[in-house]
Amino acid sequence: EDGAGFVGAADTDYAEEEARRKSAAAFATVHQQLGKTYLPLINGEYTNTSIFIDSLNPSNFSQVIGKVGLISIEQAEQAMKAAKAAFPAWRKTPAKQRADILRKAGDLMSQRRAELSAWIVLEVGKPVKEADAEVSEAIDFCKYYADEMERLDKGVNYDVSGETNRYLYQPRGIAVVISPWNFPLAIACGMTVAALVAGNCTLLKPAETSSVITAKLTEILVEAGIPQGVYQYVPGKGSQVGAYLVNHPDTHVIAFTGSQEVGCRIYAEASILKPGQKHMKRVIAEMGGKNGIIVDESADLDQAVVGVVQSAFGYSGQKCSACSRVIVLESIYDSFVERLVEATKSLNIGETELPGTQIGPVIDANARDRIREYIEKGKSEAKLALELPAPAQGYFIGPVIFSEVPPNGIIAQQEIFGPVLAVIRVKNFEEALAVANGTNYALTGGLYSRTPSHIQQAQQEFEVGNLYINRTITGAIVARQPFGGFNLSGVGSKAGGPDYLLQFLEPRTITENI
Ligand code: GLU
Repeated sequence: EDGAGFVGAADTDYAEEEARRKSAAAFATVHQQLGKTYLPLINGEYTNTSIFIDSLNPSNFSQVIGKVGLISIEQAEQAMKAAKAAFPAWRKTPAKQRADILRKAGDLMSQRRAELSAWIVLEVGKPVKEADAEVSEAIDFCKYYADEMERLDKGVNYDVSGETNRYLYQPRGIAVVISPWNFPLAIACGMTVAALVAGNCTLLKPAETSSVITAKLTEILVEAGIPQGVYQYVPGKGSQVGAYLVNHPDTHVIAFTGSQEVGCRIYAEASILKPGQKHMKRVIAEMGGKNGIIVDESADLDQAVVGVVQSAFGYSGQKCSACSRVIVLESIYDSFVERLVEATKSLNIGETELPGTQIGPVIDANARDRIREYIEKGKSEAKLALELPAPAQGYFIGPVIFSEVPPNGIIAQQEIFGPVLAVIRVKNFEEALAVANGTNYALTGGLYSRTPSHIQQAQQEFEVGNLYINRTITGAIVARQPFGGFNLSGVGSKAGGPDYLLQFLEPRTITENI
């Protein structure tokens, strides 16, 4: 079947003077709004809290992006009650009407594109162009899931003479969305609007370090017309509020993107039937990756070097799709590593607000310290090929490349989620595939090759959810590269793809004898 009908939002072309002027103006406006307070949205009201956190700019952590109120367990319970109360009307709301709210939200994001990008740049330290692409992705999720819900809402008829058979979908109930900081707008938006358009009442608990952007998403959903109680914004401590909502007997669906550790815990907790609970919970968990790119002897090395650098160091490696291993055939190994190191040296590291910046900071002090520990481990098990210096102010880590990394070494097996790349030497293509598949993950993978038999073999044997041939392995586009992995990379079907909404729906068959 040809799925190529959906047309996504276009990214900003910063070569245009007008676009650059708009971006600068948006940054100026956002700077004036820094440090404001954002409150949770419970039952349609912005509600006060007793605990607040400061969300900081990781490029310059003396800059407070916003103060965010964290809800208590009692407030989580209030939100849950409000969601339950709002559900009967929301489930009856025609799919078209729900879809139109998403379309409106997408339009509002288009209008506020430059401003939303600026918030992303400042709150999570993402370079401007990548932040802009993230806004496109958020808009695409709104529009695509709106279309998808209308498609599914038609159901299927299996009528025969004397009997009608109708296959249709209904919402599941209450969805809890637990979103990550690394795609603070796109992924939070995607999971949330999918749950909503399918007719579920939805509670969004964002990662603490990105709660201002999710507060902006909240403003947009409210303005788009989401009814009170149907969507609620519930920032809070993951270990308290997140766990409470996951364990709540009224929760039906949990959509999570984040670490493997937390994903596995959610999966386990969600499986326990609580007193009063009359259903099994469904968990959608998008977790980590230890993604490899194979470069064989026939690869276009110029293309491979650029693709690996971008896949490994884009957003400082803080994407679950990022390349953290490059698996290189012996005959080209030395020249590849040399060129990789040279290309990486030319990257521009700095505050992400500056338009020329290619590599920004990592998200916070914990991340910085964890990544540094991995770098130290790497030094004891492999050869340091490059360690770039980084600015002192902010949570910066310069890109690091290790060569001669043993395939089972710590830095070749554990997800680092930072700008650290392991280069692994292999004898032949068979070994390359074995090494590529030799982790617990199966998210993205890449191959640079001009050998048709290798390309074909990789298609069959490279076990990843998203395989990219002769291109970068990050930056999946909605309805073009539906995104997600399997094994310990996650459970559930792909975001931005035709099966995604089904996870938020309960199919029913109704047969009538006539
Ligand atoms: N969808 C993103 C990409 O293709 C990655 C999402 C993530 O890091 O969770 O790069």
